[in-house]
Amino acid sequence: MNRPRLLPACVPSLSVLVLAAITHAVPPAAIESQLLTNPGFEQGLVGWTVAENDVLMSTVTASAARQGGFGLHIDDADGKLGSSVESTPLPVVPGRSYRLSFYARSPGQSDGCGVYLRFRNDLQRLIPSSPATASIPANTSAWKAFTFETVAPADAALVSVWIHSYSTTTGIWEVDDVTLEELDGPGGTPVAPTAVATPVAAAKPAAAPAPLPPLPASPPAIVLKLDDLVSTREGDVAPRWKRITDFALERKIKLSIGIIADSLEGDKPAYFAYIKGLQNTGLFEFWFHGYDHKAWQEGDRKLSEFQGTPYERQKDHFEKSQALAREKLGFAFTTFGAPFNASDAVTSRVLSENADIKVLLYGNPGDKVSGKIVLDRVGPVNIEAPLFVPSADKFISGYLQHAKGRDYYVIQGHPAQWDDARWTEFVKLVDYLSANRIPVVTPTEAAAL
Ligand SMILES: [Zn+2]
Repeated sequence: MNRPRLLPACVPSLSVLVLAAITHAVPPAAIESQLLTNPGFEQGLVGWTVAENDVLMSTVTASAARQGGFGLHIDDADGKLGSSVESTPLPVVPGRSYRLSFYARSPGQSDGCGVYLRFRNDLQRLIPSSPATASIPANTSAWKAFTFETVAPADAALVSVWIHSYSTTTGIWEVDDVTLEELDGPGGTPVAPTAVATPVAAAKPAAAPAPLPPLPASPPAIVLKLDDLVSTREGDVAPRWKRITDFALERKIKLSIGIIADSLEGDKPAYFAYIKGLQNTGLFEFWFHGYDHKAWQEGDRKLSEFQGTPYERQKDHFEKSQALAREKLGFAFTTFGAPFNASDAVTSRVLSENADIKVLLYGNPGDKVSGKIVLDRVGPVNIEAPLFVPSADKFISGYLQHAKGRDYYVIQGHPAQWDDARWTEFVKLVDYLSANRIPVVTPTEAAAL
């Protein structure tokens, strides 16, 4: 089939979010055009890897073809997981520019899908702050051309193209005819691959435009919102919870832990002593994360503990949970975060009647009824993306991109879901916070900001 090796020179100006684009007076010539194998999905997903958690969101279909017979079709309907298709990583030359071009369309309402260039070091680890991205605008039913350029970081060894719909959004996107090219080095000077071995040349890429905005002078604070604390069946504390709270004590960072309150029923001295002991250190805020954390379906209606359920039930769950906290822990909850972050107008009414609760995590920003302080959610800035999978790199790039004018971010995680690899990513994230002196605060402290 006929596929252009290069984009035409007259690529229309687009409302593309281009991070890390380099301005060249004269467009640099490509040293190597089209590095990708199967760039137009004509051989299905050969040369591309679909992540396990993509759960059939990304498929190659004939209807998604811009030209040729096939294209990539993404249908993200769940609002919890993001799609994820990545090209096989290719070797790169640090300091050299790379141009990504592709065509995309989006018949849906959401612009929550990005096409990224990701760099990895020689250990195949993702390089923090390195991704460059173009997001596909909503309501683009016709094919549009997108292009951006970025410089391979000093420690880059590999690059890949990553097509990813964000975990919290839903929508339909189609991508075809992806072109990855290697350009001349910055300023048109080719960078010799051997030059990276010398310290002088290695410093060169640092002079290139930074791929992400710099850390603000007073960086926004972080609330580490950790969900779903329960006891073990034996009335004790699960090892993964113990690991994160030990880590917090050792590193002196503040954790904000959501308790599912029915775990406070019964006689569990070890579990209660654990929570009370942590509370007494002043490094922890325990908040109310529902009584039973249940979700179910009635006909085609999806219900959960605080969504679509009657006032009496919601009121009862608040009251018995606060009573359990007072009795077993010696304090009432002052912060609430709904299970599944799902609440409704009834919850606002119940909250308005609860004097103990002052702060809502990820509450509805338009809520005028509850009278509480709402700490909002910034979709692309989180611990986990997709759900249950911490990513330090995604957090860092989201943090820097949205930091302007913000006082805080509430970022969410589920430590009970973290195996050792996921745990390592979380530690990396905390290392970044510590290294950059980013304050970590509790919800109550964030509300005071
Ligand atoms: Zn939860």
